[in-house]
This record gives sequence, structure tokens and C-alpha cells, in this order.
Amino acid sequence: MDKLELTDAEWRERLSPERYQILRQAGTERAFTGKLYDNHETGEYVCAACGAELFDSGTKYDSGSGWPSFTEPAKDGAVDEHVDRSHGMTRTEVTCARCGSHLGHVFPDGPGANGLRYCINSASLDFAPKAD
Ligand code: FE
Repeated sequence: MDKLELTDAEWRERLSPERYQILRQAGTERAFTGKLYDNHETGEYVCAACGAELFDSGTKYDSGSGWPSFTEPAKDGAVDEHVDRSHGMTRTEVTCARCGSHLGHVFPDGPGANGLRYCINSASLDFAPKAD
């Protein structure tokens, strides 16, 4: 996978202010406000910053959190995980492996076999529908 590295100025130019704040400054949209948390269509969720495939609709579930939630990434190596000690909590941040943009966090309370919940900002994702 080719990495995408842009300068801060290039990211600002390329992204809307909301997406820039979330993707490049590790922001969080308010729960239940994103376009995709309640999306149930079949398709791929790609990085809103670089277009890399990140999650598949087959692993999306209703966590009740108000953010798009997945049990696992679309493929091994699609996302990177980092310890995040901001806001007085220890969490695991999830970033796009291709462009380094902030996606959300992963928590150990998911329903799948691996017990993970990838809690991802809707603004960090674009949805590409697929015919069932
Ligand atoms: Fe990306």
C-alpha cells in the first residue's frame, strides 16, 4: 500500500473544516449527528481523507453509541492503533494506515468473536454502496 503524506496546508485545502478538525486534529463529532451511524446499506466504508478501504458493511452493527461501529477492519493492516492518553483517559486511537488520519477509537466491548468495537467518526468515512 502506498502511503499518502500531505502537508498540513494541503490537508486544510483538501478537507472541509469539519473533516479537517476530526481527521487531522483528532476531533470527535457529536454522537447521533453523523450521516453513517444509522446506515444499513451493503458496501464499503473508505477513508474520507484518502479513499483507502477501511471497513465493510458486513462487520457494522448497532452499538447504540451514535457513531458507526464495526467489529473489525476490512482487512489486516487497513488501520493503525495507538495508545491515546488525552482527555484523562487511556484509549486506543484508530488511524488510517495509508494517510495517518484520525478515525476514532477501538474498545474491548464489542459483540464479535474478537470482542472489539471500532467506534469511528462518520465524518472520517465515505460510503461506497455495492449491489447485494
Ligand atoms: Fe486515509
